[in-house]
Amino acid sequence: MATLLPAPPKVGMVSLGCPKALVDSERILTQLRGDGYALSGDYAGADVVIVNTCGFLDSAKAESLEAIGEAMAANGRVIVTGCLGHEAETIRARFPAVLAITGPQQYEAVVDAVREAAPAPRSAYVDLVPDAGLKLTPRHYAYLKISEGCDHRCAFCIIPSLRGDLASRPPAAILREAAALVKGGARELLVIAQDTSAYGVDLRHAVSDLGGRPLRAHITDLARELGGLGAWVRLHYVYPYPHVDQLIALMAEGLVLPYLDIPFQHASPAVLRAMRRPANDAKVLERITRWRQIVPDLALRSTFVVGFPGETEADFQYLLDWLGEAQIDRAGCFKYEAVAGAAANELPGAVPEDIKEERWHRFMAAQTAISEGRLAARIGRVLPVLIDEIDADGGATGRSKYDAPEIDGNVLLRDAGGVAVGDIVEVLIEDADEADLYGVSA
Ligand code: SF4
Repeated sequence: MATLLPAPPKVGMVSLGCPKALVDSERILTQLRGDGYALSGDYAGADVVIVNTCGFLDSAKAESLEAIGEAMAANGRVIVTGCLGHEAETIRARFPAVLAITGPQQYEAVVDAVREAAPAPRSAYVDLVPDAGLKLTPRHYAYLKISEGCDHRCAFCIIPSLRGDLASRPPAAILREAAALVKGGARELLVIAQDTSAYGVDLRHAVSDLGGRPLRAHITDLARELGGLGAWVRLHYVYPYPHVDQLIALMAEGLVLPYLDIPFQHASPAVLRAMRRPANDAKVLERITRWRQIVPDLALRSTFVVGFPGETEADFQYLLDWLGEAQIDRAGCFKYEAVAGAAANELPGAVPEDIKEERWHRFMAAQTAISEGRLAARIGRVLPVLIDEIDADGGATGRSKYDAPEIDGNVLLRDAGGVAVGDIVEVLIEDADEADLYGVSA
């Protein structure tokens, strides 16, 4: 006789914040799915709802509180986790009936809270977790978090106080996860951490045994191994330490995508000093030139902050001139926003909002022109493109090696032909604007 299994409780998830928080949500859901829980796509069908919050900026906190309020109103059985979990009193004051509050990376505590709120029937007959875990990103790309926390103390940032000092994962565990992701269909691995290039510093770059081969806990060794798995490997949040030159060599070998996401934040030495930025080296421009000599199609993406306390017009002009020389392919720009608890709040020289606004527009105009020029230079080339979506109108949307999902641009194909999501196809680039490329299958 067949064993009848009771219907499992359903869990809803609202995931806010950065890719690192998204990975946390994936881990929580993977664990819960493994425990026999089902997932609910809406509040009404959920026995309990997890809200994974972001607490980085005040605006993100407000968004997180709003999301908790919405889940409370629609469902009422809510567990809060993530960065805002550190401010349990604030959450309790607004929503006293929240079932449990935990902080970032407290996967076990979240899972325990769910078990208590909606106990799942255990069954040895059920194993629903695919090797790659349960993912919130599409199957064909995946974020790979290699460490938590950060040893730096940038003046505008409260992440170290929320997430603690650098704690790198053992390289073998990362490689196991990466191999499972690739086996599960990932064509692209997006390597993330607060500071990817610092990977392994806390482990003193210890050497471990990888199937009889020595492996250092070091970003270059890890990137080389990841590059051998057969998927695209994209590096995010890299700081320009001298050893980044070794990553450029891996790009030249074709093991890692010719793409670097370096959060420069500014260029003026005075502002960088006030920001207390790591790897704050005046010779960065020379290094970018050298990198491009080795990997001519290297794409650089970055983020910048304008209106940091004390930023003068001369500092800002320095940034614009630097941008013109660095020719960064893609850049986001933020107007400085004070974050409760950040050291920068004590700095003199607050920049008035109208000046921040004006600088932001000047920055964006300069960067848009640069991005446009960099993209136009790709017209006429045939590029491999990873297909993300087949569009309703018969076209397809994908990305080249130079573009990360969500934050960079797309390659738009007029005619999808026989391509499917997750395929990597050769595309002749016919046109470009300031954000996207347009082409046809080659
Ligand atoms: S490097 Fe600076 S901005 Fe990035 S997480 Fe660390 S302290 Fe924050």
